[in-house]
Amino acid sequence: AALANQIAAGEVIERPASVVKELVENALDASASRIEIHIEQGGSTLIEILDNGNGIHRDDLPLAVLRHATSKISSAEDLSAIATLGFRGEALASIAAVSRLTLSSSQSDEGIGYEVTINGSAYNAAENNQPVSAVAHQRGTRIQVRDLFFNVPARRKFLKSVSTEFGHIEEVVRRVALSHFDVAFILVHNGQIRLDLPIADSGELRAQRVRRILGARFTETSHWLDCSSIYMQLSGWLGHPSEARGQADLQYLFINGRMVKDKTVSHALRMAYEGILHGHQHPAYLLFLEIEPEQVDVNVHPTKHEVRFLAQREVHEFVRHHARQILAQFKT
Ligand code: ADP
Ligand code: MG
Repeated sequence: AALANQIAAGEVIERPASVVKELVENALDASASRIEIHIEQGGSTLIEILDNGNGIHRDDLPLAVLRHATSKISSAEDLSAIATLGFRGEALASIAAVSRLTLSSSQSDEGIGYEVTINGSAYNAAENNQPVSAVAHQRGTRIQVRDLFFNVPARRKFLKSVSTEFGHIEEVVRRVALSHFDVAFILVHNGQIRLDLPIADSGELRAQRVRRILGARFTETSHWLDCSSIYMQLSGWLGHPSEARGQADLQYLFINGRMVKDKTVSHALRMAYEGILHGHQHPAYLLFLEIEPEQVDVNVHPTKHEVRFLAQREVHEFVRHHARQILAQFKT
């Protein structure tokens, strides 16, 4: 069972950034409004996530790290979604199988919580002798992941330099922070604060967050776009192409709140930028497309990084046309 868990973990957990992504998504699922992420050595020695979300009940704590343990499936509809999307309730079990994991949580405001520790073992309910201990704890959840892949030497060797691994983590946090303005994020690496983003519930604070994440040069040279049709709305910033740092570096598209690489939209944008791009320049943008759910299939790929539009040509024309109008301002 331990080996099976390690193999499964390899599919979900590729590197420290994958751990951060899964844990931050769990915190968001738990309705946290503040998420702290502490990293040591690019995540190879420590990944710690603290949230102020709903917490986990004492009795559910040991279950949370079991394979296929999820509190998020309640209806047959959800079950059919699993058939198309693949795993649910795998993340914590997978991480626990390849690290030393401590999970603690509290659902009350009385300063008391509970904690379990799993050291890279297949945690299995039948041999449930892992003690749950009471600890001082704020409302919310704290997960410490130490020594990732300590028991899978081949994978541990495969980790890149501290700065490369941290770069991947930073990118995960950037993407999440750009799509969850109603949540505060703090990212700390080796004791240094790298991102400190308060809740951005006004236009000014949102612009400030975008500036902190994408840089002043992007926000100062970009133009705001906001347009809608019957079933979709597109808003965000179109940047001056010279600000693109390189290969698709500054291209963020969120469709219904999820970061997506979409060929239809990116092609429409490339067309809109035609005549403005020079040499090796790339379009630079941060865009949010909200579209009626029945107009888009998000289950094209298990990672949900790709979508398919019902009316592909209309979406293409809508994006191209409105982006073009805004971009005309760059030429003057
Ligand atoms: P999934 O997110 O697919 O349900 P996970 O393995 O990521 O599976 O998490 C297992 C379960 O642990 C979740 O369903 C949830 O009940 C609980 N859980 C994990 N992280 C948190 C958190 N930060 N706050 C509250 N509950 C959590
Ligand atoms: Mg999860």
